Amino acid sequence: MNCDETRDLIHGYFDGELELVKSIEIEDHLNDCHPCAQSAKQIRSLRSTLSQDNVRFDLPKSLEQRVRSTLSSNIEPKQRPGSLFWRWFVVGASAIVAVALVWVIAGVFSRQSSGDVIAQEIVSSHVRSLMADHLTDVPSSDQHTVKPWFNGKLDFSPPVKDLSQQGFSLTGGRLDYIGSRPVAALVYQRRQHSINLFVWPSTDSAAESERASVHQGYNLIAWSNGGMAYWVVSDLNLAELQQFVQLLREQTPDGPAKM
Ligand SMILES: [Zn+2]
Repeated sequence: MNCDETRDLIHGYFDGELELVKSIEIEDHLNDCHPCAQSAKQIRSLRSTLSQDNVRFDLPKSLEQRVRSTLSSNIEPKQRPGSLFWRWFVVGASAIVAVALVWVIAGVFSRQSSGDVIAQEIVSSHVRSLMADHLTDVPSSDQHTVKPWFNGKLDFSPPVKDLSQQGFSLTGGRLDYIGSRPVAALVYQRRQHSINLFVWPSTDSAAESERASVHQGYNLIAWSNGGMAYWVVSDLNLAELQQFVQLLREQTPDGPAKM
């Protein structure tokens, strides 16, 4: 990320419109570049000024009355009553159709997006962990080392399973962020393939069955169990990834995760 790119993206960054990877690149650049950090500081203070109540004001009542009286004096007095009725009827009907359309379209998009946004973040996080050579904060194949490492770093304790006997070796854990909350990332290895398993508390009891999808060529499987949401992502083939999920689920009993 250079200064020009940062300038182009900085407003999107403050509006929370960028994907995680870009936001992190911008933060890295702001840490290193004094001029960009200065202009970010100015934008931040402008935004906080604009959000204060004393720079906003309500329209005076007299202005509203003036607009209304101008409007009513401009309506033609010689209109036949019937035609005025039909004109307003058509305007009203069009407005209802337009509102209904927006509602339907917004519904379709928001239903698509909530799962899609998470899937996108999962893939970004997976790719970043491989690219930045930052796969683990606690590199260990011992579940009794990895699990306690999360103590005090998360407000929950993720279940950590050893599946090395079944060919999925635990290589460590990492703190990560998905959907603006800190989550546990557990890392497993199958031959040359890294598997990231993300875990965080979930209240979505309706999503217990597994949902598989493909994003940017990576296989993803999501499910929830015992009050936790699980997302697994890898370039491993789907059949073996499903086997991994199956093994995990066999070792993770239903109900609030204790262990
Ligand atoms: Zn810069």
